Amino acid sequence: MYTVADIYSILHASTKILVHPALEIFDLAYDTRKIRRGGQSLFFALKSIRDGHAFIGEAYRKGVRAFVLSQKDIDVSLYPEGNFIWVNNVLLALQQLAAYHRTQFKKPVIGITGSNGKTVVKEWLTQLLQDDRRVYQSPKSYNSQLGVALALWNLSDEYDCAIIEAGISQPGEMVALEAMTRPEIGVFTNIGAAHASGFASKQDKIVEKLKLFTHSKDLLFPSRYGIASMLPEGLRVFSFGTEPMDEVQVLRIEDYGRTATQIQVAHAQEIATFSIPFRDKASVENALICITVLLFFGYSLDAIASKLTKLKPLDMRLQLKKGKNGCSVIDDTYSNDLASLQIALDFLFQQQQHQKRTLILSDMDGLDDKLRQKLLALLQRQELDRIVLVGKGTHFMRDQLHTTVLLFDSTEALLLGLKDIPFQQESILIKGSRAYHLEEVSRVLVSKSHETVLEINLNALEHNLQVYRGMLPSGVKMMAMVKAFSYGSGSYEVANLLQFNKLDYLTVAFADEGVELRQGGITLPIMVLSPDEQVFETLLTNELEPEIYSFRILHAFITFLDRRQIKDFPIHIKIDTGMHRLGFMPEEMDALIQVLRVTEAVRPKSVFSHLVASGSRDHDDFTRQQLDTFARCAALLESELDCNLIKHIANTSAIVHWPEAYLDMVRLGIGLYGVDMDRTLDVEQVSTLKTTITQIKELPAGETVGYDRKGVLHRASRIATVKIGYADGYSRRFGQGVGQMSINGQLVQTVGSICMDMCMLDVTDIVAYEEDEVVVFPDLMKAAADIGTIPYELLVNISSRVKRVYFYG
Ligand SMILES: *Cc1c(COP(=O)(O)O)cnc(C)c1O
Repeated sequence: MYTVADIYSILHASTKILVHPALEIFDLAYDTRKIRRGGQSLFFALKSIRDGHAFIGEAYRKGVRAFVLSQKDIDVSLYPEGNFIWVNNVLLALQQLAAYHRTQFKKPVIGITGSNGKTVVKEWLTQLLQDDRRVYQSPKSYNSQLGVALALWNLSDEYDCAIIEAGISQPGEMVALEAMTRPEIGVFTNIGAAHASGFASKQDKIVEKLKLFTHSKDLLFPSRYGIASMLPEGLRVFSFGTEPMDEVQVLRIEDYGRTATQIQVAHAQEIATFSIPFRDKASVENALICITVLLFFGYSLDAIASKLTKLKPLDMRLQLKKGKNGCSVIDDTYSNDLASLQIALDFLFQQQQHQKRTLILSDMDGLDDKLRQKLLALLQRQELDRIVLVGKGTHFMRDQLHTTVLLFDSTEALLLGLKDIPFQQESILIKGSRAYHLEEVSRVLVSKSHETVLEINLNALEHNLQVYRGMLPSGVKMMAMVKAFSYGSGSYEVANLLQFNKLDYLTVAFADEGVELRQGGITLPIMVLSPDEQVFETLLTNELEPEIYSFRILHAFITFLDRRQIKDFPIHIKIDTGMHRLGFMPEEMDALIQVLRVTEAVRPKSVFSHLVASGSRDHDDFTRQQLDTFARCAALLESELDCNLIKHIANTSAIVHWPEAYLDMVRLGIGLYGVDMDRTLDVEQVSTLKTTITQIKELPAGETVGYDRKGVLHRASRIATVKIGYADGYSRRFGQGVGQMSINGQLVQTVGSICMDMCMLDVTDIVAYEEDEVVVFPDLMKAAADIGTIPYELLVNISSRVKRVYFYG
């Protein structure tokens, strides 16, 4: 714990106003929506999507009395009780504080980085190591410049080791993460696509990531990238791979039954075969990394084998579900530790739909007396209406929580007693460690939807927006593409959030979509792609700004406006630099300038073009040519018309690959919805298509399933019928085992043809019940690839009869 004065000296700041230098700080805050004990929080005015300085007043109202800021012109006389520390860079200051706090932790810190699997490896390692030691792990995927700092802040000496995940999205970022984390032991998972995020080569990316280990003692890494030759002197290495000199040598990997994989490895002249309860390549690789870490820690092969069988797939998302009796249920039953409990509680308190809040909490693994006191203190700070404690280890708090407390010895006891608790119109957080299986409690409290829904996670959308915003230099505007009902995820619900986040522009495909946004209260400027004459009136009455792509449409629009004596109507000039879809050709610029010079009806606001292949390195020369052509045309328009136009050409993949294409504004599309074609960014899935199991049948070998007897059963099988078919947008091409869905985190395949409203799944090898929830596209990119299309098509094809359900923390 630090006082404001301590923090002032740790930050080496020069300017300050400290009215209460002894004020003690426990929490770091940067988002006013998440402030809960204002009086003990230090607010960092970060500049991300919104400028934190604009929220100082709100933080003060929430009780915050300590601030770190960079802007000098804040009128602090409005906040007489406030303590203020001025720094040059607020994020850097937060990192310095985290770095200082880290140096107080004297036990080993394990740092994990790599392109994929960091979070899973971190969670699994915690699960595997915590029988023998108290493990602190960075919560969820807190791996960014901000996330790592927040993760480190919660370190305390009650833990025996810490596992910290570090992620970067562009060159130069790892130095800061290293300075904060200083891991003694490094784990390097793998390396993904070479080109994303401004890295010239895979090599560059590896070099950048390895910077996390500059001061490490030991590094665990895959030998396949030739990393060994790139490591600093004195670093002890422990590699895994297929080479005889690897410390952990993989001899064989093969499928084992339908749901498991066997890995045979050699280590220190011993050979062992491990069975892992997964089939997919990523899980197998992640498990191999975990095996390597355990061997490094000196676990015996036998001990590892028995631990591995317990690994479970992860669903770390905080799920908000519709409960019975008008309740909302937050299901977070994968793991339970103080840091993730804190996050889950934050999420609970962000739910504004109910006044009343209940926490159902199981005992935690690895708590000693000190951590128990921390847990108690954490719960005492919450304004909960009811706390349900499960497991005797939690009962010590019974008389010290100032609210209704219900005690149960076990999950079984709670399940029996559940019907006597009058849950009604409240938000319920269920937080439990795996062993307690509180998901069974969630099953009872959640109302079955009996329908196919598309869940839209507005939190994830906001997060993705931040990811792409973060890549842009300040001053570059952003337009969000909300065409095709926001790539299938709904119109004004999404637009509202974008408006709240102060986007500059929205773009729809058709005027009708724009009208719907206006009716939903959207006041941002809206561009309409490819309007035709029939909608001119609609454009006018709804203040929608057309893309103008040809002389025909330009003349028609001018005539229309002239007739109404309207002047200066904003338009957007589209130039065809190579897509050859819509737009003026470069050689038409002179003629275009002639027309625009003599009319007063329209006023060009922006000029733009569309890149054909910004995500594909094979066409870099063509992209460069498009950029040149566009620059030439835009410059000509600006000089000849003597005006400033907003110039824009970059779509999502150009934001990632072509910084020189940012110009004045970028147009963010698919990335906003969580699809990163390179799989290198930390974007989150926004839409989840879900359905339910309507019926399960046991069928003998030789029977067939579905139309035309296409699904032949070669063994006795359990077949589940789910309520989604091609009328919902689930393509018939997913039939005959091509489609994979996920039930309770387990992958299953389709059997037979897809029907109009239903299809069938083979659930022989998994645990599944009627009414269980089914995730239709557990991996959207893979699903698209499986039927030879792209994620865009799968998203926008989800039929409008599928209900959209939004949630937002
Ligand atoms: C759809 C669209 C975009 C967005 O493309 P993404 O690949 O989804 O980012 C940008 N510009 C125009 C003109 C578009 O039609």
